[in-house]
Amino acid sequence: MAVNKIKYQALFQECSVKNVQLVAVSKLKSTEDILDLYQLGQKDFGENYVQELVAKYEVLPKDIRWHFIGHMQSNKVKYIAPFVHLIHGVDSEKLLKEINKQAIKNNRTIQVLLQMHIAQEETKFGMDEAELKAIVEVAHLYPAVKIMGLMGMASFSEDEVKIRNEFKQLKTWFDKYADAPAVDFKYLSMGMSGDFSIAIEEGSNMIRIGSLLFGARN
Ligand SMILES: *Cc1c(COP(=O)(O)O)cnc(C)c1O
Repeated sequence: MAVNKIKYQALFQECSVKNVQLVAVSKLKSTEDILDLYQLGQKDFGENYVQELVAKYEVLPKDIRWHFIGHMQSNKVKYIAPFVHLIHGVDSEKLLKEINKQAIKNNRTIQVLLQMHIAQEETKFGMDEAELKAIVEVAHLYPAVKIMGLMGMASFSEDEVKIRNEFKQLKTWFDKYADAPAVDFKYLSMGMSGDFSIAIEEGSNMIRIGSLLFGARN
């Protein structure tokens, strides 16, 4: 399926005006589709699967900033550590520790976001506030990791009030922990194709958009 260039231009415009970073989520989409957007100037792409990300990284232009937005397993960090731009889904100290180790091995600092659980569904990954507090308190032990902010996914729901309240909660946590020592909060990653407008209204400055740009996934 072709990339929706009209949608992209409109979204790009909106994001520039509102100072929001647009991450184009290209999971399960072809390298041709990615290049179509890249040629329009898009540099930030998000992927969910390690193997797929590595394969795309190898063949695509090296100035693409790759965001890992899926569930990160500790034993797979090593594959993306040499090049990943931002890992959105960090939700345990164990993972933080492994990212720190791989960052040192690769002689670089790796930027991450802490994933918070805001949706009502049981299946979504992420931390609660107690876990966030605990991880922020040990952040100084992992100096090769830069904690750049928070990420969360709202419920898949038609209920706008519910979605809005979940985003509000995430923004509240973002503001509360932004000035903690050893973190460098800058990005609040919330909002996908179906709910990004609400997310931006509630303070998001990084949205992750897949199907709106690339069409539905199989
Ligand atoms: C797939 C995915 C997206 C993009 O979803 P769309 O609804 O297609 O925009 C955003 N964030 C995460 C974490 C995802 O897994």
